[in-house]
Amino acid sequence: MEADSYVDVPKDLLKEIERLEQLFTIDTAKLKQITDHFVNELEKGLSVEGGSIPMNPTWVMSFPTGYEMGTYLALDMGGTNLRVCQITLTDQKSEFDIIQSKYRMPEELKTGEADELWEYIADCLMQFIETHHGDTAKLGTLPLGFTFSYPATQNYIDEGVLQRWTKGFDIAGVEGHNVVPMFEEALTRRGVPIKLTALINDTTGTLIASAYTDTKMKIGCIFGTGCNAAYMENCGSIPKLAHLNLPPDTPMAINCEWGAFDNEHKVLPRTPYDEVIDRDSPRPGQQAFEKMIAGLYLGEIFRLVMVDLHDKQGTHIFDGQDISALRKAYSLDSSFLSAIEDDPFENLSETAELFQNRLGIHPSSSELELIRRTAELIGTRAARLSACGVSAISKKKGFTSCHVGADGSVFNKYPHFKSRGAKALREILDWPEKTNPKEEDPIEILAAEDGSGVGAALIAALTLERVKAGNM
Ligand code: BGC
Ligand code: MG
Repeated sequence: MEADSYVDVPKDLLKEIERLEQLFTIDTAKLKQITDHFVNELEKGLSVEGGSIPMNPTWVMSFPTGYEMGTYLALDMGGTNLRVCQITLTDQKSEFDIIQSKYRMPEELKTGEADELWEYIADCLMQFIETHHGDTAKLGTLPLGFTFSYPATQNYIDEGVLQRWTKGFDIAGVEGHNVVPMFEEALTRRGVPIKLTALINDTTGTLIASAYTDTKMKIGCIFGTGCNAAYMENCGSIPKLAHLNLPPDTPMAINCEWGAFDNEHKVLPRTPYDEVIDRDSPRPGQQAFEKMIAGLYLGEIFRLVMVDLHDKQGTHIFDGQDISALRKAYSLDSSFLSAIEDDPFENLSETAELFQNRLGIHPSSSELELIRRTAELIGTRAARLSACGVSAISKKKGFTSCHVGADGSVFNKYPHFKSRGAKALREILDWPEKTNPKEEDPIEILAAEDGSGVGAALIAALTLERVKAGNM
C-alpha cells in the first residue's frame, strides 16, 4: 500500500511513511544506473589494479558433465550452521545420494578465538565420522570439499587466504592468512584422518551444483545471511591472471564477492539507517551492497527505523511504552520481517501478536500500518538491488537467456523476494510484457541445487580429474 491510500492514519505517521517511501524506493532509472556502474566495477575487479569488488578466481575450471562419480565429504561452514555431508555421485547422470548432519554454529564462536573455531569444526567432523562410519580408515581416503563462504584469495584450489571476515564474524588472527593449514592442523590434533581437496565458496558450489542438473545455469547466487554471486569467466578476460599464460578460452569460475559493491558510496541510495548499520558493524566501510540486502541486516534496518521514529520529536509511535527490548541491536532477524510481510489478516493481528510476544509492545492499528509498510519497503529494496547484480553479470557476459541458481534463506523464505526480483530484472533489462504469464522470462532466477553439499563434492571431483589430467 502507498502512503496516500491510508485512511485514519494520523498525520505525523503518514508523513513518516512518505519519508520512508522516498528513502527506500528505487525506481527503474536508478536501478539501471546502479547496474551500469556495477558492470564497470565487475570489470575493474578483474583488472591488474583491481577495484572494490574482489572478483576472486576460484580454480574451478569447468562445468560438470553430469557423469561425475564417486564418494566425497563436504563441510559447510555457514553463518548459522555447520553441516557435514557425505555425497555419492552415482553412475546415473546428474544423480546423487547424500547423508548429512547439521550442527549449530555457537554465536560466541563468531567473535571468539581462531583455535576454538577450528577445533569446533574438527569436533563436528569427528562426530559425523563416529555416527555414520565405524570405519575411519576408509573415510581418510575420501576427498573433502570445504565450503568456506568468505572472501579468500586462492592461488590454488586447496588454499584460501582470508581477505576479511564478513557476516558479523570477527575472529582475530585469521584475516591475511591461509585458512587451510589452520583447519588441517586442528584435524591432525583431533586425529581426524581427512585431507582437504578443495576450498570453495558457497556461490561457486551453487553454480556448479545447479549446472550439474540444468545446463542453462550460468550464475550461482546466495541471498542468505550474506549475499554474493559466481559465474564462469574466460581466462582471456581476466587481466590479473594474464601472467599465468593460460589459454584465453580456459574457463575460470569467478567468486565476485559482490557484497563489496559500491564500498566507496558512489551510486547506492544509502539511508541514514544504512549508515548506522555500517558504522556499528565489526567492519565499517566494507560490504556496502551486502548490508542493504542480506538477511543478517534486514531485521536490523527495520529495528533502527522503529527506534528512530519512537525517539523522534513530533512523531508518536509506541508512545508511553517500554521499548527496551526493541533497543537491543540485532534482536530482530529477517524471519521477523518475513512474518510481518506474511501476515494474511487485514487488521494485521499476527503482526500485533508478534510485537506483543517478542517485544512487549502493543502497536495501534495505525502503527501496524506503518510497521507493515516499513517491512515491505525494506524487503522490496533488497530484492530490487539483488536484480542489479544479476543484470550486471548478465550484461557483462552478454547473457540474453539463461538460468540463475539461487539459494539462501532470504531467497527461499522471504515473502515476494522472487517476484519482486523478477519484476526489477524485467525493468532493468527492458523486456516486453509477457503475453502468457506462464512463459519463462529470458533470464530466470530459480531455486538452486545444494551448492555446499553437492556442489562441494562436484568441485572436489572436477579438481581430482584435473590433477589426474596433469592440468595444475
Ligand atoms: C561472503 C561471501 C558469501 C556470501 C553468501 C558474504 O558475506 O563474503 O563469500 O558467498 O556472504 O554466503
Ligand atoms: Mg552422476
